[in-house]
Amino acid sequence: MKNYDVIIVGAGPAGIFTALELVSSGRGLKILLLEKGMDIEKRVCPSEKKGVVCRECPQCGLLCGWGGAGAFSDGKLTLSKDTGGNLSRYMESPELDELLKYVDDIYVRHGAPPKVYGGDTEKVEKLRALASENNLKLVPSMIRHIGTDRCPEVLKRMKLALNSSIDIKFSSDATSIIFDNGRLSGVRTEDGKEFAGRFVVIAPGREGALWLEEQAREIHLSLLNNPVDIGVRVELSAEVLKPLTEIAYEPKLIFTSNKFNDRARTFCVNPYGEVVKEYVKGIWTVNGHSYSEKKTANTNFAILVSTNFTEPFDEPHLYGRSIAYLANLLGKGIIVQRLGDLHAGRRSNPRRISEGRVKPTLSDAAPGDLSFVLPYRYISDILEMLEAMDRIAPGVNGSDTLLYGVEVKFYSRQIKLGNNLETEIENLFAVGDGAGVSRGLIQASASGVIAARGILKKIGTET
Ligand SMILES: Cc1cc2nc3c(=O)[nH]c(=O)nc-3n(C[C@H](O)[C@H](O)[C@H](O)COP(=O)(O)OP(=O)(O)OC[C@H]3O[C@@H](n4cnc5c(N)ncnc54)[C@H](O)[C@@H]3O)c2cc1C
Repeated sequence: MKNYDVIIVGAGPAGIFTALELVSSGRGLKILLLEKGMDIEKRVCPSEKKGVVCRECPQCGLLCGWGGAGAFSDGKLTLSKDTGGNLSRYMESPELDELLKYVDDIYVRHGAPPKVYGGDTEKVEKLRALASENNLKLVPSMIRHIGTDRCPEVLKRMKLALNSSIDIKFSSDATSIIFDNGRLSGVRTEDGKEFAGRFVVIAPGREGALWLEEQAREIHLSLLNNPVDIGVRVELSAEVLKPLTEIAYEPKLIFTSNKFNDRARTFCVNPYGEVVKEYVKGIWTVNGHSYSEKKTANTNFAILVSTNFTEPFDEPHLYGRSIAYLANLLGKGIIVQRLGDLHAGRRSNPRRISEGRVKPTLSDAAPGDLSFVLPYRYISDILEMLEAMDRIAPGVNGSDTLLYGVEVKFYSRQIKLGNNLETEIENLFAVGDGAGVSRGLIQASASGVIAARGILKKIGTET
């Protein structure tokens, strides 16, 4: 059996950047990358073909394989420590800023476009002031947009850079972290193979978060809280949001609702983009993306409400799934409703949708009534936020604005980690979305670099 220095589980951005950093150290480490999905060219989703419903493939072609969930994502690199993850818990500000820039440069070297949005500080400041006058907090952040169509190219280049330096095994589902006499000794895969490794970096993304949680319980790692954000995807004419998107590209707005004092926020803004469905372990939720070249007439974004549940309840994942399930039950998938219909207390139907000025980009969403799905509290928070946004971008709160439901963001159970993302077990590291340290491409990638540097430091101190 070959002995590896480092075994990485998961070939999403977190796993890939762990490998890139280890290889670039020039230490000649023996590295194995295990990925349960396929290489990027072989990743397919049967439901992408028109008329085919999700087949619930054992390894989802959209989420698993080289590039992970990032492969067909919108590829918006949010160059900010304040969004897309919790890395600021592990690293001080100037150092973290430097790390995010380092990661961004690697994306650019592998083909991400040079253009960055949100750099006109004067205009951003004006927008921030206007938002603030209307009870909205604008979190300025610079965005580099790779685009759904260009992401696979960038990822292929990263693979090319690693190919000759590490072993990559696809269709290799890690099932257990293994120990020898109480010391970490490697990883076992579904087919019963065991791989020996001194260091193990677990990077399974949201796809593998439940597996990681099970493993963590089995090997007695401490688990922290796992929040859930629930809301809708809003779609409107791109012209309406242009005053914001042409300045900030992805305006991140935070709002505190008057009635419930809840925190609501915009998330994943896609100028001239499309609304898409996402299948998460048995339920359909809604999401959005945009292409670098192909443009639609619409812009979409999510409004998500963060929820603090009352004790003794502590299963926010189940709660989020149950709400999404209600939409699936009533709409046989995703529900779409005109805002005017929601205000009027009536369902949307195909005629009302087709007569509206905003044409839905997700054509198989069922016109319906989101008030049957979302609790009053969420509807109230969302409507309040749309009203506030209308004051900085008139038209947001218009009758023809479309709301798709529901969008749910399940964040992985956080694992207790040290500053270099090492778990309580020596030489076992956990990174990316699956470990609850990130929620986006840049911070997931940066977390891989942190773990790699942690490993290199440990190796460097050995005599
Ligand atoms: C539709 C969509 C659009 C998005 N758009 C953006 C965006 O524009 N900007 C942004 O910043 N973020 C975006 N994201 C989020 C972003 O993709 C993730 O934050 C990022 O991919 C997380 O990286 P990761 O490496 O932690 O996990 P992932 O990318 O999920 O990768 C984890 C990998 O591990 C593999 N794996 C899991 N368990 C095992 C196991 N047991 N054994 C072997 N392999 C395993 C999986 O197959 C997967 O390939 C989007 C996500 C989606 C789904």
